[in-house]
Amino acid sequence: MSKRLNVQIERSKRTRFSSAVRKLECLRPVEKTYIVQEDLLRWKIPARDIELTGKNETITGAKFDFRDEIIELASKIFRRDHMERLRTCLQCGKCVGSCPSGRMTSWRIRRLLQEATLGLRDNVCSDENLWDCTTCYTCQERCPHGIPTTDIVRVIRNLAVRSGHMKEKHKKVCQMFLTYGHAITTSDEIRNIRKRHGLRELPPTVLSHPEKLKEVLYILEKTGFKIIVEGSGK
Ligand code: SF4
Ligand code: SF4
Repeated sequence: MSKRLNVQIERSKRTRFSSAVRKLECLRPVEKTYIVQEDLLRWKIPARDIELTGKNETITGAKFDFRDEIIELASKIFRRDHMERLRTCLQCGKCVGSCPSGRMTSWRIRRLLQEATLGLRDNVCSDENLWDCTTCYTCQERCPHGIPTTDIVRVIRNLAVRSGHMKEKHKKVCQMFLTYGHAITTSDEIRNIRKRHGLRELPPTVLSHPEKLKEVLYILEKTGFKIIVEGSGK
């Protein structure tokens, strides 16, 4: 359910807490936002200086370990210093404003980053919209903080699958891979189209080298791919 945040801070406190106010105001124009009690403490904003009006939500005891988990896994694939930038997201919304998928669906990259930061692991991993990102990298190119947003989406998808959240369609594709060593099989129609375009009838993969299937399946088993796929899905 969407919630709109409306935070008011006395004008006289604004200078004193200007940086914190900026941060809070960055949070304002979004559909669903949380104010984290720990952030108020970190920014040294006494609770009495904050007036929450409307349908607001405050969170106490937010766990940041999910963000750490994302950074940890991401750092095994990408540069750690890039991934650490996730901690600097100010919720400015430039990413979501430039997201082509967000114009057509209810996918919101900014919201994902916020929920991930707040440790809302279940929300993030079970969110069907997570799969609506086309990984076009527009948001990553435009983020003023250089946060590798798209790479983070890819890492979160991995974590979601490991937690048992995988779409049935994706699972079918993975099953094809486990059966044929190739995510897309062939057919007479596809072979003819390839021929018409001057390509070999079969691509240079396991489809052309069935004797290599055993090796591919060995890799899929050793890397844990098989267990992950067979153990996931709703
Ligand atoms: S990821 Fe970047 S563009 Fe998106 S809200 Fe955070 S700082 Fe802004
Ligand atoms: S990479 Fe995903 S979240 Fe980023 S702009 Fe493209 S579709 Fe949107």
